[in-house]
Amino acid sequence: MKTWRMGSGDPQRNAQGRLCHLLTLEGLRDVEIIELLDTAASFLDLGSRTVKKIPLLRGRTIVNLFYENSTRTRSTFELAAKRLSADVLNMAIASSSVNKGETLLDTVDNLLAMQVDGFILRHSEAGAAHLLARHLGEQAWVVNAGDGQHAHPTQALLDLFTIRHLVGPIHERVVLILGDVLHSRVARSLIQGLSILGCPQIRVLGPRTLVPPELVHLGVHVFQDDRAALEGVDVLYALRMQKERMDVQPLPSLEEYHRRFGLTPERIRLAAPGAVILHPGPMNRGVELTSELADGPQALILDQVTHGLALRMAVLARLAGGSG
Ligand code: ASP
Repeated sequence: MKTWRMGSGDPQRNAQGRLCHLLTLEGLRDVEIIELLDTAASFLDLGSRTVKKIPLLRGRTIVNLFYENSTRTRSTFELAAKRLSADVLNMAIASSSVNKGETLLDTVDNLLAMQVDGFILRHSEAGAAHLLARHLGEQAWVVNAGDGQHAHPTQALLDLFTIRHLVGPIHERVVLILGDVLHSRVARSLIQGLSILGCPQIRVLGPRTLVPPELVHLGVHVFQDDRAALEGVDVLYALRMQKERMDVQPLPSLEEYHRRFGLTPERIRLAAPGAVILHPGPMNRGVELTSELADGPQALILDQVTHGLALRMAVLARLAGGSG
């Protein structure tokens, strides 16, 4: 299976082949993903305890470096680090020297001079996390928390976790990804993760202008007709319409998108009985899906957030060397 490539070598592994950064799911082995999902499962009940902390990363310092907006990813990474007892530095990029022209690598070098252990980076440029990982080598680890339109590996991992935990084995489920695939780092990473775990059918449905034609070469089934796309689907994954990444208007209107591709109670009746709805957030109610569905029993959207916290704990535990 072909995948999106970001230059040569494998910058997320050290010379011994050990994962020392998490930049993309590309090149991960199924056992590595499953180990992360199993570790996340072991952290899941921590949130319902009165004392929600364990000392696994006590004494480690982790920096949240978010150059792009975030609600769920930034706060779950912060909580994940805190629940593992690490110290967390949340860089306020808007009020930092980035506004005086300091580069990403200079900012990081200054933070490194404060002996931090790892960075969680979100950046609008595809490849930013790879650049940082190459710069750091094994001095500190990097987690890619979303780089441009390229990758969002922890989102895909939490989505895989949610499917496996609440729907069933991934190698037995049909998954349909709907909407703005073209601009979506979430879709790219999710397709990679589903393929690695042997999903038997990955389908994509969306306007021609928002579905990259090369997807068919990755073994993805591309649909334009909603009825055919929905038939027999177990997991409906609605993507946000990412207006901020669109240079030209790809559709007549959002109303038209909703009418043709939006999830509605009528439309999901075409899917397999018991089909569930996932969305990475933030949702546009009335565009990607109706409010009735977003708040209904088939939506696992808030479960994704809960699972994201446990999953990010697993990723931090793994990279920071804890036994997790
Ligand atoms: N929150 C996800 C991301 O950062 C999805 C989205 O923004 O649509 O990519």
